[in-house]
Amino acid sequence: MQLRIPGPTPIPPEILEVMSRQMINHRGPQFAELIHAITSRLKEVFQTKGDVLILTGSGTGGMEAAIVNTLSPGDKVLVVSNGFFGERFADIAEAFGAEVERLRFEWGSPIDPDAVRQALSQDPGIKAALVTHNETSTGVTSDLASISAVVREFDKLLVVDAISSLGAIDLPTDAWGCDVVVTASQKGWMVPPGLAMVSVSQKAWQAQAGAKMPRYYWDFAKAKKFLEEKGQTPWTPAVSVFFALGAALEIFQREGLPNVMARHARVGSKAREEVRSLGLSLLPEDSYASNTVTAVRAPEGLDVKLLLRILREEHGTILAGGQQRLEGKIFRIGHLGYVNEQDIEAVSQALRAALPKAGFVTAR
Ligand SMILES: *Cc1c(COP(=O)(O)O)cnc(C)c1O
Repeated sequence: MQLRIPGPTPIPPEILEVMSRQMINHRGPQFAELIHAITSRLKEVFQTKGDVLILTGSGTGGMEAAIVNTLSPGDKVLVVSNGFFGERFADIAEAFGAEVERLRFEWGSPIDPDAVRQALSQDPGIKAALVTHNETSTGVTSDLASISAVVREFDKLLVVDAISSLGAIDLPTDAWGCDVVVTASQKGWMVPPGLAMVSVSQKAWQAQAGAKMPRYYWDFAKAKKFLEEKGQTPWTPAVSVFFALGAALEIFQREGLPNVMARHARVGSKAREEVRSLGLSLLPEDSYASNTVTAVRAPEGLDVKLLLRILREEHGTILAGGQQRLEGKIFRIGHLGYVNEQDIEAVSQALRAALPKAGFVTAR
């Protein structure tokens, strides 16, 4: 089976193995050792000297945690959205009473830093900017280095959804001045779903102290206190996923973060090349196409649903469709985590066989 969706992603055997370990006491010394080791390695991948907290929940839980820990009801926030997940960020902020301004970009386009500058200069009351680094729904990576520089110009809080980029695409949290960065275990980390990992800057802690949005389970201060004082999480964690994350970070360490990112760049470029060789085109332009997920336009006549079914049933290859307004208009190849160029080659072969049966005659 070839699972090529943008999360959950395939798990290497060595990680699967540790998932079958017997339970341990999450209030005991073994867990404390594990969480401290994982946290310190996570900081290397986040490229931060600030705090990193591990929360039991999915990526969306991490997004909610980032919001409720930094904002108060009535706070003005700029949500910069270029896809399905950007809209989700705005929806969560709205649900908790923030006054949300949505700066929207076309689905398939990146975030324009100049437009962010304009929006921030027009409304000095804005407290925070919520930004998606890698928009998984459209396969677009925005220029977070430039966007973060703009947000810093205005001294606003910068909250980043890096759920499908961190651990695969470069994101130097401290160097770019990101205040809260959110990622999730089932994306680039080669780990099953169940954990959200978030970094928290000094500035974010200051915001945390005054933030009035309701929170209990997601309280960063409780998580930090338990981590530092006891080597624990406030609530029972997904222990098996902690085992998996520990093993994954050892693999990261062995391969080396620069090599992990270089591999994703090669795999991403290979995916784009293969798509084009089939006579298909990408949703985004190459210059900002993501190295973790490739969004392919469905040409005239192609039945995406049928294509995905043929790939699954006849080729054991699972790809993702389009979300919401892109449903039926694109399909997506996930290539993050435990993936190499041969895996993309296999996807390409399956596509070459399946596309004509779903209504599209491939090139060559
Ligand atoms: C997957 C993803 C999410 C949602 O994460 P869940 O773990 O499904 O809650 C949010 N944002 C981005 C960019 C994602 O790729």
